[in-house]
Amino acid sequence: YNKKSKSIVHMSVSFQRSEDLFKLPLHELVGLYSIDYYDKKSYRVSSMLVNEDDNVKTFIQLARKKVSSSPYLDNLLLQLVFSVPMIVLFLLIITNRLLKRSIQSFEITVDAVNKLSAHDLKKRLVSDNAPLEIRVLINTFNALLQRLEESFNRISSFSADASHELKTPLTVILGEAEVGLRKERTPLEYQTILHDIIEEGQYVKEIIDQLFFLARKDTQAFTRSFQELYLDELLLDVVEQAQAIAKIKSINLYLENINPVTILANEVLLKTALLNLVKNAITYSSKGSEVKISLYNDNKAFVVEIKDNGCGISADALSYIFERFYRVDKSRSRKEGRTGLGLSIVKTILDIHHYSISIESELEKGTTAKIRFPNLLRDIG
Ligand code: ATP
Ligand code: MG
Repeated sequence: YNKKSKSIVHMSVSFQRSEDLFKLPLHELVGLYSIDYYDKKSYRVSSMLVNEDDNVKTFIQLARKKVSSSPYLDNLLLQLVFSVPMIVLFLLIITNRLLKRSIQSFEITVDAVNKLSAHDLKKRLVSDNAPLEIRVLINTFNALLQRLEESFNRISSFSADASHELKTPLTVILGEAEVGLRKERTPLEYQTILHDIIEEGQYVKEIIDQLFFLARKDTQAFTRSFQELYLDELLLDVVEQAQAIAKIKSINLYLENINPVTILANEVLLKTALLNLVKNAITYSSKGSEVKISLYNDNKAFVVEIKDNGCGISADALSYIFERFYRVDKSRSRKEGRTGLGLSIVKTILDIHHYSISIESELEKGTTAKIRFPNLLRDIG
């Protein structure tokens, strides 16, 4: 062939009238370096480029009569006739199994979800043997359960905290009113009683607000409510409030080593935390002993220390005291109306402020609670 696709020389070996057969236009020889087949009449023609110079391309071409059946094709047909139905059957069985497994785990999952109630929020669906897509669904559902459980727990602890914190002021209100009504009193006495009731009522309102605040546990909202406070003045307030209970037990409650310090905090929350710790120190000390509160700088942070010489806490019990409802002496504390929520409220409040607390204690010797106020502090003394 020349470059213009013309066949210029043609030689054929022992084949009559074959010229037509081999006169293929050059462009029909698609892959010049490979063998290609062209059907021409009843022949099969194969071509292969063997040489190419400036004007001429030289091919070897072979032609062969088409045979109606080839052993290779016959064999292939036979194989397909048997193997295709087998493969289809095999695929059907596999698909059926996979679908059954999916549907089965789906049904198990739906069943498990249907059995869940508000009390089972701790439970989680098992995803071990489930297929991947169901496992994704189960994991998503478990994450939802986790969030529901957290909200539910917050609401439950809100009710527990509310009843715990409100009991005392409500008892005071009822007591004041009952005492007031016991006999005729002067207008001034009634005024004093009503004044006390209003004061306690306001305290109840404040506590409810704070508990709602805690139940929301929106840390950003808390941080926004922080203001600059004098920690030393706050401690004075706390001691003044706790003095009434200390007096009943003839406990000497006093402040020592107080330096002026400012902090950023939520006043009511921090007061609640400190008051809970001071109340514990008084409650778990014997009559006539001492409770000392101090505020000092240990170079890295300011520390509020509340130290008593009371009954102390055993090393075993010490690791549980911040848990909700944990009380060391259950029978005694129940009689005294203790719920074991005090320290868990303390911990929550301090966590919000990023203050740390540690409690050291020795049985029969006493307990020391230390709150550390890092970096937020500024010494103005
Ligand atoms: P409340 O909710 O009225 O405060 P509570 O005092 O029992 O009840 P927490 O303040 O959480 O609850 O204290 C948990 C437990 O830790 C107490 O029951 C008590 O046994 C122990 N405890 C706490 N503070 C002291 C202390 N200063 N000395 C000895 N034991 C203490
Ligand atoms: Mg307590």
